[in-house]
Amino acid sequence: MDTALWDARCKRAGEPLWRLAGGHRQQVPVYDTEGGWLHLTTDDLVKGALRAQKAGWAGIKIKVGKPHPAEDAERLRAVREAVGPALHIMTDANQSQTMSSALRLAAALEPYDPYWIEEPLPADDISGHARLARATRIPVAVGESLYALPQFRTYLETGAASVVQADAARIGGITPWLKAAHTAESHNVMVCPHFLMELHVSLVAAVPNGRYVEHIPQLRAVTRGELAMRDGMAVAPDAPGIGIDWDMDAIDDRRVA
Ligand SMILES: [Mg+2]
Repeated sequence: MDTALWDARCKRAGEPLWRLAGGHRQQVPVYDTEGGWLHLTTDDLVKGALRAQKAGWAGIKIKVGKPHPAEDAERLRAVREAVGPALHIMTDANQSQTMSSALRLAAALEPYDPYWIEEPLPADDISGHARLARATRIPVAVGESLYALPQFRTYLETGAASVVQADAARIGGITPWLKAAHTAESHNVMVCPHFLMELHVSLVAAVPNGRYVEHIPQLRAVTRGELAMRDGMAVAPDAPGIGIDWDMDAIDDRRVA
């Protein structure tokens, strides 16, 4: 409802979401998640990273959480060697680690300079994330599994999050997303939302601490048009509204009675 009301508000005002929500700048960096899944071989990871780099994108993400941290470290090492020092390589553990394994994993990954380690621990373990953040120089990223603004506040106040990944679809819409982003800004922490690039491109563009859009093209089947890219940067849509061109026929085809 909140997102629909923002859409109506933007259309009535004749403004695109990125401008009405803050209007910081229209183009934002993109990182690719599509080439980094845990089941892919190391060769595939390297190919995906080189493809993103060639396209002019500033970052890629690889999933971690293999049975032994040495295997994750080896996959990251291979990618780092292929792309050189400048490309940002995000890592994502999807809440798979225990406290002790997360400490070991972070230590194994550190030499290859990951841009962040995402959801190393279960999302409700805030003190665990704070402890890990103190023990590693890799920034800790959280947010895709947080559903309320006070959780973000506690993560930030305790130093447990160095990157906030609020997801508008999970936190209750654009209004609470902006509150989470502004709360992060007050702690000098960047916001790099999880998933839903078609909407989040406009929100990252709106706020000064918006840093990255995550490239996961999983809404292709129900939308028309592609995320606009210019010189390796995503461009927030200029049309009035939230900027998503839904394919209503494709959505109707998926209706369950
Ligand atoms: Mg994630």
